Amino acid sequence: MSDTLENITTIGVLGAGQMGAGIAQVAAQGGFTVLLADVSQARADAGKAGIAKQLGRLVEKGKLAAEARDAILGRITAVVGAAGLAPGDFLVEAATENIELKKQLFVELDRAARPGVILATNTSSISITLIAAVTGRPERVVGMHFMNPVPVMKLVEIIRGLQTADDTYQLTLALAHKLGKTTITSKDCPGFLVNRILIPLINEAGFALQEGLGSAEDIDTGAKLGLNHPMGPLELADLIGLDTCLAIADVLHRELGDDKYRAPNILRMHVAAGWHGRKTGRGFYNYASKP
Ligand code: NAD
Repeated sequence: MSDTLENITTIGVLGAGQMGAGIAQVAAQGGFTVLLADVSQARADAGKAGIAKQLGRLVEKGKLAAEARDAILGRITAVVGAAGLAPGDFLVEAATENIELKKQLFVELDRAARPGVILATNTSSISITLIAAVTGRPERVVGMHFMNPVPVMKLVEIIRGLQTADDTYQLTLALAHKLGKTTITSKDCPGFLVNRILIPLINEAGFALQEGLGSAEDIDTGAKLGLNHPMGPLELADLIGLDTCLAIADVLHRELGDDKYRAPNILRMHVAAGWHGRKTGRGFYNYASKP
């Protein structure tokens, strides 16, 4: 059982993309042993290599000692699939935002993890209750929604499913705090709190762009200098990943049944074209020429 924070020494992360790698980095920086899994060894290794690059930048800037970087990296092991996370004391799923995939992965995580181990999901929008229901331990399933980039952003949104037990919730809160994060708690409703607010903003910025109200730069500068947002909605969408933004918008639209959540066609077309934002080198902006 992993029913106290002291019993959690190994954190397993499923999905080694931008969020999974960020969660793994923060957990290793927090002193935990980390297992980082993806569909293949190559993908998991790439996730770990991305962490090494991020930490290398901190070393170059004099913000982290080279020995500390080596120690952090030494605590992270890249493994394959949910089965590779079996030794973990607390597991966080951070794979692609797709409901069928998440259900499948929770069946696998439930099979791999020891009884009593908490299974958290970093989903941006999908019902925790629904994901929990495919497992034999719905009371040990919880939403743990980190923000992007994980090492920089202070917030973790904790979501209780209908079946989430009090001690599961409390232990997840305590872990988030141990990782240096500030928490908010949301009920289990599509998009929870943060994306319920953010996605309509991103959608509206997309509508403004497709209607030719202004350029992408105009829209983002309007939000930055006019609304005091640190990033404009279109550049933020590119950072999140346009595929992820569209997946969240579709969940909000379908589950809440209100057309105010519909995604603009320009977002759908960008995703269809493979322009998923920074991670693919092109989204609303072109990053191919940038380092
Ligand atoms: P990403 O595309 O960068 O990474 C997804 C990773 O999942 C990939 O490495 C992919 O290979 C892996 N994956 C796919 N199928 C898998 C499987 N069967 N087993 C193991 N790994 C698998 O996406 P991301 O931005 O890291 O998002 C991951 C999750 O985090 C999503 O649920 C997303 O909604 C959520 N999230 C994203 C953000 C954001 O800003 N991007 C913020 C908060 C939460």
